[in-house]
Amino acid sequence: MSQTTKSLLLNEEEYQNLYQKYQAYTVPVSSPYIAFQIKLNDCVITAYPSRKVVFQGSHANAYAKDYEKEEPKSNDKNRYPEAGSDEVGTGDYFGPVVVCASYVTKEDVPALQQLGVQDSKALTDERIRSIAPVLEEKIIHSTLVLLPEQYNRVHQSNSMNVIKAKMHNQAYVNLAKKVALPDFKIIDQFEEEGIYYHHLKGEKNIIQGIHFETKAENKYYCVAASSILARYTFLQAMDQMSDTYDFIFPKGAGSAVDQCGKEFVKKFGQAQLKYVAKLHFSNTNRIL
Ligand code: MG
Repeated sequence: MSQTTKSLLLNEEEYQNLYQKYQAYTVPVSSPYIAFQIKLNDCVITAYPSRKVVFQGSHANAYAKDYEKEEPKSNDKNRYPEAGSDEVGTGDYFGPVVVCASYVTKEDVPALQQLGVQDSKALTDERIRSIAPVLEEKIIHSTLVLLPEQYNRVHQSNSMNVIKAKMHNQAYVNLAKKVALPDFKIIDQFEEEGIYYHHLKGEKNIIQGIHFETKAENKYYCVAASSILARYTFLQAMDQMSDTYDFIFPKGAGSAVDQCGKEFVKKFGQAQLKYVAKLHFSNTNRIL
């Protein structure tokens, strides 16, 4: 059988998962540059501290397959610099809506790869909290937060998608004050381009020429970085709410949220709900 070699860069979770899965097959390593090594009958897996992992042997591809994913399109060098935006909190009853737009240059890419930057939904909150402060330092970005009370006010005359469109646009307007916007600007698509621009009718400053693509957070570092930074700001806002009320607010909009919403109203009164929750969600009816 032929020997193959496959090299991958894993994120923190995959790296831990690999170690745990094959812990029984680890062998002592002689080099300080190797984090751990796994010896199987048909494959040797060598893991480096950078989270680079090399699979070698007749079945290297089969073992590597579990850890292969669609890498952000980092090799299309001509596209850089790029700007991308993403939002969080739109599916969460409690907490704000946050939109972030980030600016990424070709030179930023190796550091982003090293950090394991990818869609924030694929990362644990703990990982977000450790990556985001580094990203905040490294990447030019602009973050907008719409707290529940403001959100509820704005939502009286704007749908969720109108609010999203206006926030994305404003994030780019703010980003443009920090850096000249590049030709390539992308939004992780939440609606069609035509509808997006329709929603912006009447806005003073409209950023044109934006490219829309679904699952963009898996494909573009600028969108992945934005999704992480937005998630981080969302987590911080949730922390702040927890401190204010000495109360734990669950994420999402499921039955745990209904349960906690009922407890919250019992403790603090119905009038306080507008400061912590998006009232138009059907959760409100179930809670009250
Ligand atoms: Mg998105």
